Amino acid sequence: MQQQSTRQAQSSASGNELIDAHCHLDMFDDIPTVINDARMGGVRAIITAGGSRSSSTSAARIADGISVFAVIGVDPESAQKDGDFIDEMGQLVDQNRNIIGIGEVGLDYKVGAQKELQKKVFERQIAVAQQLDVPIVVHSRGAIDDVIDIVKEHGVSRAMFHFFEGDEKQAEDMADMGNLISIPAQESGRRKRIIGNIRISSIAAETDSPVVGDSPIDVIKAVEWIAQVKGIDFAQCASAITENVKKLFGLWDYDEWMGP
Ligand SMILES: [Zn+2]
Repeated sequence: MQQQSTRQAQSSASGNELIDAHCHLDMFDDIPTVINDARMGGVRAIITAGGSRSSSTSAARIADGISVFAVIGVDPESAQKDGDFIDEMGQLVDQNRNIIGIGEVGLDYKVGAQKELQKKVFERQIAVAQQLDVPIVVHSRGAIDDVIDIVKEHGVSRAMFHFFEGDEKQAEDMADMGNLISIPAQESGRRKRIIGNIRISSIAAETDSPVVGDSPIDVIKAVEWIAQVKGIDFAQCASAITENVKKLFGLWDYDEWMGP
């Protein structure tokens, strides 16, 4: 506890502007408090993801273009029921500048829907994102080889792999194409090897809260760990990771980002 509050103080005092690059704010009961706690702790922005028509609509509604940005998408679990939502995405992105990408999208072989349908829905959304010139946020569970095949086939170079499930070689491969590998606050030997094997310029940090992490503020723990593995100081690590996410999602275009 002591250590965590020191980290939080450090992060706000040194002006670090952390970004939780992936979470699901719509799943929290008290959303304003979650956002406020994160901001007070040094988390400058949160990217909240949809995965269905309804969660994407919620994400877009929560996004304010200041502290919260949204990505909208049809995830593998919703591939069957929400496929028609894909046709509406272009217009939604055009009309709402707080929607900064398409996601989470991808393949999940641990959910019921058929693989072929999932692939089709993933590929359609890659096409939408490429046409809109916005990044995608990729979800993969038990499916990384197929995900990588599709990403390569479509020349995807603006993706953030949320909760990356591949190995260090695959991470390097995806990073070399220009994509970001997002690291959650859950430490593991495999993730440690990934962090060691790719450049800091290819790393994002996330909580996936409340699905996995508790709250967006925990992104601080992920950044702390990445800094430790990389052998660099926290402030340097935080600012590098924030720049990566801002660059991928074009957050520089937001005047509010510059502060008052
Ligand atoms: Zn997620």
